[in-house]
Amino acid sequence: MGLNHVSSLLHRPGTVLCCAILCTLLACNADQPESSDQQAPQMAPKVAPELTADASREPAAEPSAPGTVNPSTWPAASAPMARDEALEKRLDELLSNMSLEQKIGQIVQPDIASITPAEAAQYRIGSVLNGGNSAPAGQQYAPAEQWLALADEFYLAAIDPSLPGPTIPLIWGSDAVHGHGNVIGATLFPHNVGLGAADNPELIREIGRITALEMRVTGLDWTFAPTLAVARDDRWGRTYESYSEDPNRVTRYANTVIEGLQGSLSTDQFLNDSRVIATAKHFLADGGTELGRDQGDAVGSEADLRTIHGAPYPAALKAGAQAVMASFSSWQGVKHHGNKSLLTGLLKERWGFDGFVVGDWNGHGQIPGCSNENCPQALLAGLDMYMAPDSWRGLYDSLLSQAQNGEIPLPRLDDAVRRILRVKFRAGIFDAPKPSERQYAGDLSLLGSDAHRQVARQAVRESLVLLKNQGGALPLAAGGRYLVAGSAAKNISQQSGGWTLTWQGTDLTNEDFPGATSILDGLKQAVSAAGGELIYDPAGTGDHGDIDGAIVVFGEQPYAEFKGDRDHVAFAPPVADHLATLRHLAEKNLPVVSVFLAGRPLWVNPEINLSDAFVVAWLPGSEGGGVADVLFGDADFKGTLPMSWPADAGQSPLNDGDGQTPQFPLGYGLKFADTQWAGALSEDPKVENLGGSADTLMRKGKAAPGWALQLISQGQIAVLGDGPGTLDNNALSAKPIDINGQEDAWRMQWSGSALGLMTVLGDGPKNWMRESNGDVALSLELAVQSITPATTVDLMVLCGAGCMASVPVTAAIQQRATDSASAIVSLPLKCFAAAGADMTQITALQIISAGPLTLDLSSVTLASASPNDMQCPDLAGDTP
Ligand code: BGC
Ligand code: BGC
Repeated sequence: MGLNHVSSLLHRPGTVLCCAILCTLLACNADQPESSDQQAPQMAPKVAPELTADASREPAAEPSAPGTVNPSTWPAASAPMARDEALEKRLDELLSNMSLEQKIGQIVQPDIASITPAEAAQYRIGSVLNGGNSAPAGQQYAPAEQWLALADEFYLAAIDPSLPGPTIPLIWGSDAVHGHGNVIGATLFPHNVGLGAADNPELIREIGRITALEMRVTGLDWTFAPTLAVARDDRWGRTYESYSEDPNRVTRYANTVIEGLQGSLSTDQFLNDSRVIATAKHFLADGGTELGRDQGDAVGSEADLRTIHGAPYPAALKAGAQAVMASFSSWQGVKHHGNKSLLTGLLKERWGFDGFVVGDWNGHGQIPGCSNENCPQALLAGLDMYMAPDSWRGLYDSLLSQAQNGEIPLPRLDDAVRRILRVKFRAGIFDAPKPSERQYAGDLSLLGSDAHRQVARQAVRESLVLLKNQGGALPLAAGGRYLVAGSAAKNISQQSGGWTLTWQGTDLTNEDFPGATSILDGLKQAVSAAGGELIYDPAGTGDHGDIDGAIVVFGEQPYAEFKGDRDHVAFAPPVADHLATLRHLAEKNLPVVSVFLAGRPLWVNPEINLSDAFVVAWLPGSEGGGVADVLFGDADFKGTLPMSWPADAGQSPLNDGDGQTPQFPLGYGLKFADTQWAGALSEDPKVENLGGSADTLMRKGKAAPGWALQLISQGQIAVLGDGPGTLDNNALSAKPIDINGQEDAWRMQWSGSALGLMTVLGDGPKNWMRESNGDVALSLELAVQSITPATTVDLMVLCGAGCMASVPVTAAIQQRATDSASAIVSLPLKCFAAAGADMTQITALQIISAGPLTLDLSSVTLASASPNDMQCPDLAGDTP
């Protein structure tokens, strides 16, 4: 097959070609291993001795099949609420009057971005969610009133009396994981890792209560929290959602947080108008995956599941948790969404859980043999409600026909629906008026109220962990003259982390946090109240005369889920300007206090060595003032490490009792009085490559590690190194240019004589499945210098032997031609999936044109999706 023919195929959107010869021409590598995961070194998770001790008591009846638990070896439990016969009778009656359609509507949960209230009524939908990037009318900053209005709309649509069958109200779930973080102006608490450091179960109860109340102001009934993960490998991007590596610490919180959110069982507070339905997640062992890979596989034994990851669940269930979310991840290769022994055998039968199991964001689609739109397996395994954000319609159709043809037995479907309705009854939703008429709804004085912020500020104070206080650098006297450095000091988005207004917590400014206090503002308030003086110099290198001390604030940038997965546990930001600041200040004769914002323990020995005092502030949220409270001595440090702190960048997994020597052990945390310091810490990271992020293919004109740049046309290939490159047929050439200097881009010139493919080639297949399920886009930073009106441009991915999928991007490129400045052009990754790509096997990305085009390309990254992204073309109509 010649490239001319390819050319014509390529200009049909959605083309997937399977042809080995073509693959050779295009330089994809058919011999590559199946998945980059398989090349990863194997590291057995280590388990604390007192926990492994339990393994020796493992009864003889070990499960036969991998990934199958034996529930009889787990602690027994029973439903904490006695069976309510009157309620069950009411449920019998409802079920007997519901059509199959109505039942299916209850077990499918769409995202508000993909369904209107009218459609929810039409399909008899029982619940909706807003994902991290979804908000009313697609407006991330929709005010609370708009959330409440939309809650009313969905509710009223669902109970429209003209609809046939019994009236069943709808509920709305949201990720209120550190306060009601999706809604502008809400109180933002420290993320769980910081709360774990505080180790104060009563405080957690209060935080749960407040979070519920703020949700109620906006008319929402249900939170996807708490996360009960026991994070055992801090390379995991969700480590900050875990309270601790120590199952006991997590267990101490499991019941109080649930009681805070839902109210205590057998009190009149339980699920009253001030509380919300809680979700214990992610069941099970989300924090136990190999290499800390999000949505990965936990390979440990059943005893690990029981004593580490499963430990908090009985406490959560005992407190009355009404929902449990299945984990995206797997155990011994079996995806939890399809694990009947866990969802049914353990959770429902052994533990008597009588609430419902909700899935995670298309998590069912990852069960072998399933797709997002078709997966009876999950229901059969024990899932009761599918989270099918954008796939709900197809899933609804397939489930309906499977229920009609008997593939799904009616008793299982009825059981799932009964569980969901039971929870709705317990939550009083059947008898409640529309959301805006419920108590507290619309009372905006409660959203981010002073009283709530005081509790968050207390949580910040209690969460801070002091790692070093050499010579008693802390506390500082508030009446002094201080320098504050580091851009993180006045960045509320950075101090709040992921799951804040947006999924990733990125693309925000301080204006998006009305009522919040940056760390800098908190310090300023404390100093000015005491008659002192504070100078803010982000670089910290200016001459500021006599000062009494310097506070340097730096840390991780926000991330969520797999976007935060790392290969090592060094704090290694792409630009390490904080080190220059610290070095500069360390030479002066003044106390240097570092405040570190991080979602997890990270190796920071060089930073610790350069500081007199080192404070871990985790991700404190909206009340940055809590930091000043402690630095200036209003309160002593109280927090202790909820996770072991690494002694080098490769020390992960690292857990208490695993025989390794951490830099600082679990439970470590100094007080002001602990002023001794033994001497400099080792600055050997013991990991060679600390740079690079899996999300970068090319930055500032340079291919990222693991990627190479090539020009390809008519079987010819030119590898781009440092200098210009061209092809003999002159179809495509490239030369380095300066945009901001230092050859930070390539000028690519397509002559129009033949099809030319600018290629970013990977050193092996990359698995972008999670990215294409989530809101991640391929983002190109480019400038179009010239293009003819007839030139068409496609983006194509190569996806394993003979697989490729292209998406036309002509309109976006042509549009850029009006302005020669660099700009971001982004295409959601799901467009390639829709065009037929196997997203688990991406080997290359190509920019393809056959017409004249001059384009300057400086970076290629995987970025969080934004409303400005291109839309996927409608591929359906164009398939040949
Ligand atoms: C996350 C869950 C979350 C859900 C809804 C998923 O991707 O894993 O923790 O509750 O999305 O936003
Ligand atoms: C959603 C999140 C979800 C994630 C799953 C995003 O698009 O906004 O809520 O957790 O996808 O990867």
